Amino acid sequence: MNAFSKQVLAWYAKFGRKNLPWQKKKTLYSVWLSEIMCQQTQVATVIPYFERFMQRFPDIQTLAAASQDEVLHLWTGLGYYARGRNLHKAAQQIRDQHNGQFPTQFEDVVALPGIGRSTAGAILSSVLNQPYAILDGNVKRVLTRYFALSGWTGKKAIETQLWALAESLTPQDKVADYNQVMMDLGAMVCTRTKPKCELCPVAQDCKAHALHRELDFPTKKPKKKIPEKQAYFIVFRKEEAVWLEQRPSVGLWGGLWCFPQVETHMQDYIAQSVTNPALISTQVGISFKHTFSHFHLYITPVVVSLTPQVHLKVENQLAEQDKGRWYALDQSAKLGLAAPMLKIINELRENDIIRKVTPHHGEVKR
Ligand code: SF4
Repeated sequence: MNAFSKQVLAWYAKFGRKNLPWQKKKTLYSVWLSEIMCQQTQVATVIPYFERFMQRFPDIQTLAAASQDEVLHLWTGLGYYARGRNLHKAAQQIRDQHNGQFPTQFEDVVALPGIGRSTAGAILSSVLNQPYAILDGNVKRVLTRYFALSGWTGKKAIETQLWALAESLTPQDKVADYNQVMMDLGAMVCTRTKPKCELCPVAQDCKAHALHRELDFPTKKPKKKIPEKQAYFIVFRKEEAVWLEQRPSVGLWGGLWCFPQVETHMQDYIAQSVTNPALISTQVGISFKHTFSHFHLYITPVVVSLTPQVHLKVENQLAEQDKGRWYALDQSAKLGLAAPMLKIINELRENDIIRKVTPHHGEVKR
C-alpha cells in the first residue's frame, strides 16, 4: 500500500465518518441513493431527505412501482431534479432488466441512468469492496491541491490526469474505507475556502500547502457572466386552492408542478384582467431570485384571486387545457413542486397573501 493511502486510512480510523445513515446497514440500494443525493448537496441537507425516502421506498421494487410525481414530491427542495427522475427510471430498469437486483458488474451499473464512472465506483467499492477509484468534487479538490495540479477540472485533459492519479493511489484492499476517507477529507479538512491543513494527514507532502497556495487549486472554471431572465408566474386562486400545471418531462423543472408562466398561454388573459380590475383581484408579489447553474431567474408571483363573476369563465378556460389541477393550500398533495413554487405556496399558507409591491402591476423590485 502506498504511503498516501496509509496516512489517510490511519486518519480515517480515528476521525472518519462512520455513522451516517447510509453507513449503518449498507446495501447497494441505500448507498446508491445516498451517492445520488449527495451529488452537489451537503451531507447535512441530504440526511432528512434520505431518511424520508428510505422510509417510503425501502427497496428498488417499491421505488420502481411509485409514480414519478411521488418521487419528485419527496425530492422537492433538494434541487437538481434530473437526479430524482433518473433514480426512478434506473429503478424501473433494474426491475425490468436485472430482476429487481442492483447489478454488481461495473459495466451494468454505469449503464444505468444518472450513474457515471465515479458514482458506479463509489457504490461498488463501498458495499462490495470492488477496487474502483472515485473522483467526485471532494476528491478532485484534495488531489489537485496535493499535486498542485493546475487547469480547470472540467477539461478533458485535466480530468484524465486526475483519474490516473486517483487510480494510482487507490489501494486494492480497504478500498471502501479509502474512498470514504477521501470524501471525508474533502468535506471536513480540505474544504473549499478554509482548508484545515494543520489537521490534514498528508500535509507534509502536499504541494499546494508547501507553496501556501491552497486556494489556487482546483483552478476555477473560466468565468462567464451568467445571464439574468425574468418570469411571471400566475397564481390563480380559488378560495383555498391554487392552480398548478405539470411541466413537460424535459427542460427546466421537467415533470414538476408549477404555476403557469405568463409569457405562455395566459398572457392575454392577465392583460385583460389588469385592465378590468373590477372583475378580478390581482396582486403582484415581490420578485425573488432563483439561481440555476446557467442563469439567474427573477421570479414574480402574480396572485389572481377569482371572484364569483369570473370564476366559471376562468375555470373552464383552465380545464380546457387539460394539464393542470387545483391544489389545496391546507393539505399537501403528493406532487413534485419546483422549489420557488413551494416558496410561494408557503407564503400564501403562512400569510394568506403575497407581500405586495403595488395593488396592480407596478415596477418589479429586486
Ligand atoms: S495540506 Fe491542506 S491543502 Fe493539502 S490536502 Fe491537506 S488540507 Fe488540502
